[in-house]
Amino acid sequence: MTSLVCRTCGVTYPAADIRWRCACGGLLDLAMRPVFDRDAIAARAPNLWRYREALPLPPDAPVVSFGEGFTPLLPIRFGQEDTTSPGAEVWVKQDHLFPSGSYKDRGAAIMISQVAALGIDEVVEDSSGNAGCAVAAYCARAGIRCTIYCPASTSPAKTAQISAYGARLEQVPGDRKATSRAVWQAARQAYYASHVWNPFFLHGTKTFAYEVCEQLGWRAPDTVVLPVGNGTLLLGAAMGFCELREAGITAHVPKIVGVQAAHCAPLYAAFQRGTDNIAPGDWSPTLAEGIAIAAPARGRQILEAVAESGGWFEAVDEAAIGRAQASLGRRGYFIEPTAAAAPAALHRLAHELAGETVVSVFTGHGLKAAAGH
Ligand SMILES: *Cc1c(COP(=O)(O)O)cnc(C)c1O
Ligand SMILES: [Zn+2]
Repeated sequence: MTSLVCRTCGVTYPAADIRWRCACGGLLDLAMRPVFDRDAIAARAPNLWRYREALPLPPDAPVVSFGEGFTPLLPIRFGQEDTTSPGAEVWVKQDHLFPSGSYKDRGAAIMISQVAALGIDEVVEDSSGNAGCAVAAYCARAGIRCTIYCPASTSPAKTAQISAYGARLEQVPGDRKATSRAVWQAARQAYYASHVWNPFFLHGTKTFAYEVCEQLGWRAPDTVVLPVGNGTLLLGAAMGFCELREAGITAHVPKIVGVQAAHCAPLYAAFQRGTDNIAPGDWSPTLAEGIAIAAPARGRQILEAVAESGGWFEAVDEAAIGRAQASLGRRGYFIEPTAAAAPAALHRLAHELAGETVVSVFTGHGLKAAAGH
């Protein structure tokens, strides 16, 4: 049976409890036992619901879906910018092709399906953009009322998308923290469908790992290179790879490399210092707005997951992010600047890791930041 477990004090609650953190203030995870039947999976439609028995939803619950997932995994050559290296191939998951234009749909599909199964008819969420778009889309599909709190600085294309789904938009002046304070107030009255606090979201993003391994012939890659701010993709992926190894389906967990923008790199800095204490930093705005998180709530958990995998962190500068986005555009891949952070690191890493099976991801569609951003 699925239950909520506090990461701080270990107390458990039924999965159907409507609470977004422990009574002690700690972060909640889910305890569950995923089941994989490879023959059954192979016979199903190519979307993320093919892993139904590994997802933390009541077996008979109807799901809220657009048929999402099982995005293409394409080999792309990185490294040609550096004329001394011929480049090396990396497998890149095309997660900018989700219905709302980012991988956040993985998390929103599972989280909003759980919300619908609980019979809840109103949620609130805070986001600097794409998580708000994804939650708004799945709430629209399920007929659930939804209010998205965004910093006033959020890209206009993302706020327009949230409004198009019929969600109420609250633009909060000030920094990202001001937005969090506003939504925590609202969360006293409505279910907090948070992509950071709500563990159902991470149990959606874990399907990234399932799909990658299945697409590689049920093998785990050697190294996975992922953008990271709050870790909603990185933590889900780490969990998915661990579950597959524990189920005896894959032989190992890949090294996980987390990529941050150098302008806002608190996890990179903590890892370099060898501490799990994330210090306040003097960070500045970055093109990679979607991963500009100065104080990630699950920061310690992210540092642990990366260290346990034998991985590390990279920090990329603004020029490298801009160059990676532009050069991918010229090769036919239209991604938003945040999604160019991992590719910016790959121009060097692909060369260093040549000979390994390396997987990365395009996280968000270029239309998200079109018109001169
Ligand atoms: C959310 C997001 C990420 C990863 O962000 P986390 O803060 O680590 O969850 C990366 N790229 C894009 C485009 C995103 O929207
Ligand atoms: Zn607790």
